[in-house]
Amino acid sequence: MMPSSPTKIDAWLMTGPGKPLERQTLTGGSPAGGELTVEVAGCGVCHTDLSFLRHGVKTRGELPLVLGHEVSGHVREVGEGVEPSLIGQPVVVPAVLPCGECELCRSGFRTICREQIMPGNDRHGGFASHVTIPARYVCPVGDDVLAEHELWELAVVSDAVSTPFQAVKRSELAQGELAVFIGVGGIGLHGVQIAAAAGARVVALDIDAGKLEQAGSAGAHAAVDVSGLSIKQIRKRVKEEAGRLGAPRHLWKIFETSGTRAGQETAFGLIGFGSRVAIVGFTMDRLELRLSNLMAFDATVGGNWGCDPVLYPELLRWIAEKKIRVRPFVERHPLATVNEVLDAADAGKLQKRAVLVPS
Ligand SMILES: [Zn+2]
Ligand SMILES: [Zn+2]
Repeated sequence: MMPSSPTKIDAWLMTGPGKPLERQTLTGGSPAGGELTVEVAGCGVCHTDLSFLRHGVKTRGELPLVLGHEVSGHVREVGEGVEPSLIGQPVVVPAVLPCGECELCRSGFRTICREQIMPGNDRHGGFASHVTIPARYVCPVGDDVLAEHELWELAVVSDAVSTPFQAVKRSELAQGELAVFIGVGGIGLHGVQIAAAAGARVVALDIDAGKLEQAGSAGAHAAVDVSGLSIKQIRKRVKEEAGRLGAPRHLWKIFETSGTRAGQETAFGLIGFGSRVAIVGFTMDRLELRLSNLMAFDATVGGNWGCDPVLYPELLRWIAEKKIRVRPFVERHPLATVNEVLDAADAGKLQKRAVLVPS
């Protein structure tokens, strides 16, 4: 293979907590064995980026670091051992790239692989013109998906869409069952679409009227504003909606996608016979629970961190088949405005998921 000239990477780096990201030109070497370099088409802005930058969560890689873990783009260069025909291929990069070989990976727990690489956390991520990552689980995007989507839009598949996809798959949600989403921001909103596409009766709960309206357009069959309601009142409302929608009284699948204490209390308060609670949002807060309810109701509580990369091809197929829509819920911003976009996201001013597009 011809030695290629070093790539000039236009990158935005986190240099310290609370500081604006700093623009730098990095010189990229060739990808190492088993890795490849993607020219970024889009990189989604996630709450996790704000957690690193402004809310005290430490990145695993050292600063300065390029943040961003929701990447789509074209493969431009491959390292040794990586199929050269991938060059030019449009891809989506899973937010969590497992090693594929350890005990956890072999047991199907790839998303919690201890050797995992997360771009924008373990190493430089996607707030840049290029990103170099392990090639193993990078997911090719077919012409069927690109017929209806632009590649930059698909960046959000890497986390905002795939994480609730994993949660719904794990819950074994069946046709006609009741799915309740608590908090319908980015993750919950896509969860609503996925559950509706799976044939469930979907109830969205939130305290934001705008988000509830969006949940309705994403396929929620009922949207309940829970502001000021007690857990008991919420439970009554959800029961009424379940009845109205002809959903079963039992076996509810409850998805906590708000990442708040109030949301988790609601999730636990909705547990009934045979319920499954999926904790998808994250908070450091604690709550007091009667765990015996799990025994009394034969209920289960689980969680998931990201999405297994092996589910990505199926997820992209759902998008190609228009079971899941991406375009109405994303907005495009130039990468050069990343600091302004982070400000807006932190202030809760974005109605849609922001995707940064390099110029
Ligand atoms: Zn994320
Ligand atoms: Zn592993």
